[in-house]
Amino acid sequence: MQKFTLATTNDRLTSAASSWLEEALFDGAFAIDCTIGNGYDTLFLAHRVGPNGKVLGFDVQEIAIASTREMLKFAGLMDRVSLILDCHSQLEKYLLARTIIYGAMFNLGYLPRGSREIITHSQTTIPAVAAVIRHLTPGGRLTVLAYRGHPGGLTEYGHLQAFFSKILPHEYIVEECTKTIDSPVAPRLFRVQNVRGTSSVFPP
Ligand code: SAH
Repeated sequence: MQKFTLATTNDRLTSAASSWLEEALFDGAFAIDCTIGNGYDTLFLAHRVGPNGKVLGFDVQEIAIASTREMLKFAGLMDRVSLILDCHSQLEKYLLARTIIYGAMFNLGYLPRGSREIITHSQTTIPAVAAVIRHLTPGGRLTVLAYRGHPGGLTEYGHLQAFFSKILPHEYIVEECTKTIDSPVAPRLFRVQNVRGTSSVFPP
């Protein structure tokens, strides 16, 4: 059982996720945004994988896909991105068995300004996280931002925490991050790095 540390940060957890993930990306990398939502993570990943890289994005809502497509077109980055209207638990249908993921992001919960009825659920979030981990390259990084304030959020977070605690610590290092001012309903960020076959450790 992995007893991961709880780190605190002054940054917004969305920034803490992207600035940490960034170190695993480079021109030519392959990355996945598992919850497109408002598209900011997709945009970030598209920049970081460079002109030779590739990003897959998943969302179950057409509105999220459509508005993100417009934003990426405007930024001139749509050529390196595929936006897929499907549940992230299906993501391996869109990968080859040998596909290597360098970075992947989940931003859970509901779409801001969208329907609060459409939320992520651990029944599909955890299979999706497991699928990403199966393809994560040594040194590759995964971030999962879990919200605990909406109905269902705390349950999803609890299931994720239980899932991550069973990951072997010599294969994947898991870290949980909170804002300096925490509360029982504040979001939490999980950071997962594949350390198999590497000597990499988390930066301080
Ligand atoms: N809570 C975040 C935003 C999350 S957006 C914030 O406040 O900034 C989460 C996105 O995940 C939504 O657009 C939603 O449609 C999408 N989503 C929900 N279930 C999904 C699933 N099973 N597969 C892929 N995307 C999903």
